[in-house]
Amino acid sequence: MPVIMNEVKSMMGISDESQVPAATEAEIPEFGANDLKGLTWKNILDAYTCTECGRCTAACPANITGKKLSPRKIVMDVRDRAEDIGNKLASKDTQYIGEQFKGDGVKLSAKNFNDGKSLFDYITDEEIYACTTCNACVEECPVMINPLDIILQLRRYRILTDSAGPSDWMPMFTSLENSGCVWQMQDLREQWTRQ
Ligand code: SF4
Ligand code: SF4
Repeated sequence: MPVIMNEVKSMMGISDESQVPAATEAEIPEFGANDLKGLTWKNILDAYTCTECGRCTAACPANITGKKLSPRKIVMDVRDRAEDIGNKLASKDTQYIGEQFKGDGVKLSAKNFNDGKSLFDYITDEEIYACTTCNACVEECPVMINPLDIILQLRRYRILTDSAGPSDWMPMFTSLENSGCVWQMQDLREQWTRQ
């Protein structure tokens, strides 16, 4: 993940001018996406090109096994949110200007827009954590839409920016940080496989 590598290089004092400057100490860096502004133009274009055929959901193992996740719904939720933001921007209503930008004569724009909502008002944690990242939805889509990329961006935001996540995932994260291995084994992988 280039954005993570950028932060690590910054902490180690390694400058890389090809990268976006890392967050300063006063700024809290954000990873992943919680709304459209964190997604790519391709993610948003995907939402508008979805034919709603449902092949992605039909192939999704999480959906097949009764989980709440539907990749088709994820893509359509991004479209709904894009429509919501577009309609509010078109209204020019100054109530949608973020508090820190408000002032006399300030007009509503995409840069100062804040309606207090995010994609998490459309998509629940239960949905994004149910994904197995199997890539079946991406392979099935007839118009090359990538619902998995959207799910991963949302999940990254929850785990890396909000420091949240399912409680039963926490031991795995701790093991990775301390041992470099999900199974709390101190040895390198090639060593424990020889034991
Ligand atoms: S990558 Fe996630 S959303 Fe896509 S088919 Fe697999 S489990 Fe379902
Ligand atoms: S398979 Fe592709 S086009 Fe069909 S519903 Fe899923 S994302 Fe949309």
